[in-house]
Amino acid sequence: MYAKRLTALPPYLFAAIDEAKENATKQGVDVIDLGVGDPDLPPPAHIIDALCASAHDPKRHQYPSYTGMLTFRGAAAEWYKKTFNITLDPVSEVLTLIGSKEGLAHIPLAFVNPGDVVLVPDPAYPVYKIGTLFAGGVPYTMPLLAEAGFLPDLDAIPADVADKAKLIFLNYPNNPTAAVADLSFFKEVADFASEHDIIVVHDNPYSEITFGKYRAPSLLSAPGAMDVGIEMHSLSKTYNMTGWRIGFAVGNPEIISGLGTVKTNIDSGVFEPVQEAAITALTGPQDCISDMRKIYTERRDLMIAGLRTLGIDATPPEATFYIWTPVPDGYTSLTFSAMLLEKIGIVATPGVGFGEYGEGYVRFSLTSSTDRIAEAVDRMHGM
Ligand SMILES: *Cc1c(COP(=O)(O)O)cnc(C)c1O
Repeated sequence: MYAKRLTALPPYLFAAIDEAKENATKQGVDVIDLGVGDPDLPPPAHIIDALCASAHDPKRHQYPSYTGMLTFRGAAAEWYKKTFNITLDPVSEVLTLIGSKEGLAHIPLAFVNPGDVVLVPDPAYPVYKIGTLFAGGVPYTMPLLAEAGFLPDLDAIPADVADKAKLIFLNYPNNPTAAVADLSFFKEVADFASEHDIIVVHDNPYSEITFGKYRAPSLLSAPGAMDVGIEMHSLSKTYNMTGWRIGFAVGNPEIISGLGTVKTNIDSGVFEPVQEAAITALTGPQDCISDMRKIYTERRDLMIAGLRTLGIDATPPEATFYIWTPVPDGYTSLTFSAMLLEKIGIVATPGVGFGEYGEGYVRFSLTSSTDRIAEAVDRMHGM
């Protein structure tokens, strides 16, 4: 009944985790969910107010424009200027997305012919590989290894593979490893892409979830990156707006235009009140971001301390709301996650769910309250 593109999909491990969690809850276990990458905190009130006000405007309920309201694209450009000191043309270099996942899933349709190679990191957010497969592309795995700081080794990609590749997906600050990349890495990527004529797609939803003095760079700040790449950004993590479905792509106008053509033929844009609220988010007061950083810092430090009492040598990440850590000896990522759920009611995501190179790791999300994380740590103590 189903098309090959569905039957060929790898099993969706996260569904199995949801089921295990549900079963435990049914049996009366007080489950602490450190599995999902979805902020528990609501968006700031001024953003919700802007949504409500706009929704009451009778003019805001028709089909929005395909590329996004020019005012939203202008606000995104202004935010890039403020945040990264990058100048963008809102008309040709910014495209509104229904969340960055949508743009990531669709971009291979614009540039990948059946049989073309796409360079995909592993472990990774699954949509890079799935979007590639849906377009008939052939994913080539770039392992992200601890000894390389979870950055792909571009020199290890055979020249014939690099020459056949149409796209490369990257994501720093990284989900699930919480690794960060610096500008010199992005420069290396831009050089590599220009040498082999590859489009760079940098997924950057965690740029604002950073700790201490660390600030995450944009791919587009690297020399030459604007010639070969785009960056996807999202309001999901920065302003706790995951359910709202709004993000944007910025960068090389030809690449933006290709993605825009796919979208014009598939979707009909983002509800205007959501775009207007997103303008408020991007241009309004930004103290919500520093407040959020403080909250995640506290949770991170609690969790790291807790893991260390378990004998797990966890390093505090510089960015993202994840802790990616090796599982203790004698476990696989799946058996360790299963043990955590069975013994102490904690849901964590087994690394193998992000790809074969995620085996041996587990990901804890810091998207539960400090109290719940403290409770999780207590349970670990008592194990
Ligand atoms: C959360 C996340 C996104 C953002 O998705 P949206 O569709 O914008 O909500 C994109 N990439 C990664 C790696 C993520 O973790």
